[in-house]
Amino acid sequence: MEQTLVEVVTGIFQLQLPMPDSRLSSVSSYLAKTDEGCLLVDCGWDCDEAFDALALQLGEVGVSFSDLRYIAVTHLHRDHYGLVGRLLPRTQAELVIHEVDRGQIEDIYVCRETFVQEMDHWLQINGVPEDDRREMWKANLQGISLDTIAMPHRQVRGGEHLCLGGFDFEVIWTPGHSPGHICLYERSRRVLISGDHVLPAITPHVSMHIQSVGNPLLDYLASLHVVEALPVDVVLPAHEHVFYDLPRRAEEIRKHHVVRKSEIASVLGGVERTAFQIAMVLPWSTLSVAWADLALPHQHSAISETLAHLKLMLVEGTVTNAVRDGVVWYSLVKNHRASAA
Ligand SMILES: [Zn+2]
Ligand SMILES: [Zn+2]
Repeated sequence: MEQTLVEVVTGIFQLQLPMPDSRLSSVSSYLAKTDEGCLLVDCGWDCDEAFDALALQLGEVGVSFSDLRYIAVTHLHRDHYGLVGRLLPRTQAELVIHEVDRGQIEDIYVCRETFVQEMDHWLQINGVPEDDRREMWKANLQGISLDTIAMPHRQVRGGEHLCLGGFDFEVIWTPGHSPGHICLYERSRRVLISGDHVLPAITPHVSMHIQSVGNPLLDYLASLHVVEALPVDVVLPAHEHVFYDLPRRAEEIRKHHVVRKSEIASVLGGVERTAFQIAMVLPWSTLSVAWADLALPHQHSAISETLAHLKLMLVEGTVTNAVRDGVVWYSLVKNHRASAA
């Protein structure tokens, strides 16, 4: 059989698992293969195509499900966690997830009605009109339930080590993209498995929404400092391609967020707006389309991403907000208006 998966670092293979009907064509899982068993990082979207691709690609390097000792999920998003419920019963593996993300499994994937109600309220207080909310609801409902969920055997906090056949992966807690996001760091090989925390071209989505913990963008930027301070030669991300210059990429992402905040300040000018109104007029260049042409789930993401910036700007003192008639309105703090004009 011809082997299609790539050994990206000696002993570590990159698996490409398809994500049908997604803007991203695939998610990359990583397999550390040793004589003592294997570690799999991330599992893919919950669909037959991903499950079959996983089984096939493991088979290409002579690995069966029963060889998996650890399954580490970098975060709870469906393209990383979705398939675990189907995979885990076929293995004797220990499932590893950060304790904060573990605490949200039922909220996201099981308590569907409550989640939808809370989401509607959250959209309402951020200025989304009723008709738009109803459509966003329907679109989001399709993406938030799983037939089978799995609970971790080991909840981690960061600092733990997953050791296997000469590999020593340290768990690094990197909240931001998800509150319980983790990276795995192999110090002796100077390798970072970065999940969705740092990607080579796409700026990782950081959002403020109903289940957010803390200040997501502030946390994200702090997490970026944590990983870029590590001696790293190779970064293995969950999307796009392997890359090497982590500090340069971290700096690009930081600059993107500085630009984004100034764009929000310009949109606000001397006017009071809701997060929805701001998101509608911001450029969404990565998607290269106007607001009206964004798919509903992407409009929802755009609002929550705008809110993550606004939350940081509140802490930094550049914007302020006020609640009127159950809706949150944002405005620039007086001495920042001149620079935004
Ligand atoms: Zn993600
Ligand atoms: Zn992802």
